Formats: sequence, C-alpha cells, structure tokens
Amino acid sequence: MSKSADKKPRKPAEKSAAKPAQATAPAPLNFATLCVQAGHNPGVGESRIPPIVQSTTYKYDDIDHVNRIMTLQEFGHKYSRTSNPTVAGFEARINQLEGGAGAVATASGQAATLLAIASIVRAGDHILAASQLYGGSFTLFNSTLKKFGVTADFFEPDAPARAIEKLFRPETRVLFGETLGNPGLAILDFDKLSALAGKHGVPFVVDNTLATPFLCQPFRHGANIIIHSATKYIDGHATSVGGVVIDGGNFDWTNGKFPDFTEPDPTYNGVIYAKKFPQSPFLFKARAQFLRDYGGCLNPMNAFLFNLGLETLHLRMPRHGENALALARFLTTRPQVAWVNYPGLDPNGKKRITRYFNHKNGSGILTFGIKGGVPAIRRFVKKLNVAALVVHIGDARTGVLHPASSTHAQLNGKAQRAAGITPDLVRVSVGIEDANDLIADFDQALAP
Ligand SMILES: *Cc1c(COP(=O)(O)O)cnc(C)c1O
Repeated sequence: MSKSADKKPRKPAEKSAAKPAQATAPAPLNFATLCVQAGHNPGVGESRIPPIVQSTTYKYDDIDHVNRIMTLQEFGHKYSRTSNPTVAGFEARINQLEGGAGAVATASGQAATLLAIASIVRAGDHILAASQLYGGSFTLFNSTLKKFGVTADFFEPDAPARAIEKLFRPETRVLFGETLGNPGLAILDFDKLSALAGKHGVPFVVDNTLATPFLCQPFRHGANIIIHSATKYIDGHATSVGGVVIDGGNFDWTNGKFPDFTEPDPTYNGVIYAKKFPQSPFLFKARAQFLRDYGGCLNPMNAFLFNLGLETLHLRMPRHGENALALARFLTTRPQVAWVNYPGLDPNGKKRITRYFNHKNGSGILTFGIKGGVPAIRRFVKKLNVAALVVHIGDARTGVLHPASSTHAQLNGKAQRAAGITPDLVRVSVGIEDANDLIADFDQALAP
C-alpha cells in the first residue's frame, strides 16, 4: 500500500475511502523524499525497510471476501501473479515519482511495453511509433505484433506535425515515443506529439526509461501512459530485470475508439472498466486482464531491489549527467573522435531540456563516432580498463557498446540509420565513478 500520503494530515473523509495503492493521489512531498520513502509507511514495530514478501498466496476466512476480490468488487492480494505487497510498494513509489494515477509492475521493460500495447489494441489496429526506438520495441511493433494482426508505422520524431499526421489511420490506437531516443538521444517534442495524439483521440505512450522521472515527468507534458525498463536507472546497479507501466489517468477511453474499456468484460462478470474505475480504467484492466492472461509479473525480490535503487535515484542521476557531460566535452577535443552526441551540446537539445527537463543535464547516455572504422572501434574497446564492453545501460559502472554490431545488428542499414545508428557509433553508459578516471581511460584507449 502507498501510505506515504498519510504523513500529511488528511481529512477523515479521505481516510475512510480506503483505496488500493494504485488509486492514491500524488503525495505533497518533494521528489527526493518520495524516492526514499514513498510506498512504505510502517506501523510501530514493523520493518522500516519495505520487506520482501516472498509469498504467492494470501489467507482468507470468508468465501464471499475472496469472491469480491476475484470479481473486482474489492481490492486485495490473492495470488502474486496479479499483485504482491512488495511489488505494490514499488508500484506506489514509482507512480508517485511520475505523478500518475497508479502503476503495474512487470517482469521486464519488454513486458511493460507489451502490457501497455496489448491492453489497448485489438487485431486490426495500428500503432504509430517514433523511429528512434529501443531495438526490442522496434522488433515487437514491426515484426512480432504483426503476427497478431496489429500493424505499425514509424515516423521521424522531429518531422513536422503535418508529415506525422499523414500517417494516422482510422485504426490508429497508440502514439508511441521515447523521452530520450535510444541510442539517438533526441529529446521528444512532447508538445507536438501530445497535440497530435489528443486531436486523434489516441493515448500518447512514452518510454521514459533513459530519462527517469528525475529528469523528465512526461505526464506534465501530455503523456497518457509511461513505461519503464526498471532494469536500467531504476535498478541502477545492473542486478535485476523488470519493468513498470504507469497510468496518467488523463485519457478519455470513452471516446468511441476503445470498446474494450466501455463494453462489459464477460471474464469478470461483465465489469465495464471505464465505469467501474473511472479514475484509471487502463490500470485496472491491465492488471486484471494482462497479468491474469499473459503473466509477465514482477517478482518480489526484484521489486525490493528496485525500491532500493529508487532510494538513490535523485543522487545518482545528477552524477551520471555530470560525468557524461564531462566525458562528452573531453571527447570533442580528441582528434580520433568524429562527432559527439549528448543532449544539451547542441542548441536544439538545449531548448528541449529547458522546455521538458527538470534538470540541466541529460542522463548518463552519450554516443560518439570513432574515426578509422570497425578496426579502430575494436582496438578502442579492447584497451578500456575502467569502462567495460557490456550490452547494458543505466549501471553505476561505465559501459560501452557498438550498437551496429550488437543491439541493432538485426536491422538493415536503412533501418539502422532511421534508428539513429551509424557504423562508427559507440554508445557509452557513463557511470558514477570519478570523471577524471573515466576521461583518462578513454584518453589512453583512443590513443593510436
Ligand atoms: C532496455 C530497454 C527496454 C527493454 O527493457 P528490458 O528490461 O530489457 O526488457 C525498453 N526501452 C528502453 C528505452 C530500454 O532501454
């Protein structure tokens, strides 16, 4: 349960309306306090740390009580595929950090993307997604979902609104983009895209993995649903795979395009999600249907580790950003470096940071081009001592990757370029070590 709001005096009327954790309003505490404490408010003699409830099962005395839970008349943990106290604590914390109406945690970031999309679309529907997309999201939309009859088109996120609008079809049901495109690092033009989504009556779904709510809170800029790979900065230490979907509670599912929200669900006694849960029908439908039928739930151990990670999010993110900026500036001075890309180094990126970010720097992710082709990249990677070659991002430790030969190797050259990948591109996930050690390491590794 999210009880951190209890720390402020509340009116008795609010207190008596006991709601599930997912339905609490954002607490009036500041971001850093929410990072450390949201989602867990122990009573006297109880664990101050959110405990790991390593249990699949929950005890009841009364069959009518279980019936009310099973038919969505009442909230309660019944089986850990659909909810668990440790997982609920993580959901409440990240939900408050994003300022949402509630969250559903998942087994991975990919499961989060699938949950978001599969809870909205039916066979025959269409997705519009920014072309600068995480590789796994691209193959999910462009290949796997096709087999379920859901098609997708991709747009250059900085194309004019008119050009993007031409791609909308009567069957379009989702507009999807990443706050910071991976690995192109373009900051999404939220104003343009949320206006387009609003005009066409479709939810604007944003993958906020690379920015995290510390840098950007997409609900403040018109997003309707946020997804995260919690595997990255939320964990922050490269220990656990997981994801989460947050409902902004700010989309009108009754606009005629989403019958699954406005018609009775026969698998839950005819419940109509938009009527029964008017504050966040998406959230309740996602939990009740997706987790029940597809599974893909988060386990309590990883939820515990994500809670631990979130407790330092507000300390780690500024350091990731400062280190990345210092390394980016150093790289621009090296003759072996063809180009450097970090949000805020160019005027357009700076403008977007001012408009949409809560802080002046980007995350720890930067990209740069090495002169001399693949042999030079191979030599550079081999010589690194402090940084390591890894496929992961968002770790406290610095890692590098050559996407063209790894994460994006399945795409052809044209699709790679559309995703912002060039053959000379090296992606760096800058950690929270001492920036001088990182600079010295890159310096010696680049030296001929
Ligand atoms: C890693 C990542 C994902 C997928 O998350 P997993 O936890 O690896 O399944 C989705 N989106 C972005 C931006 C990512 O970086």
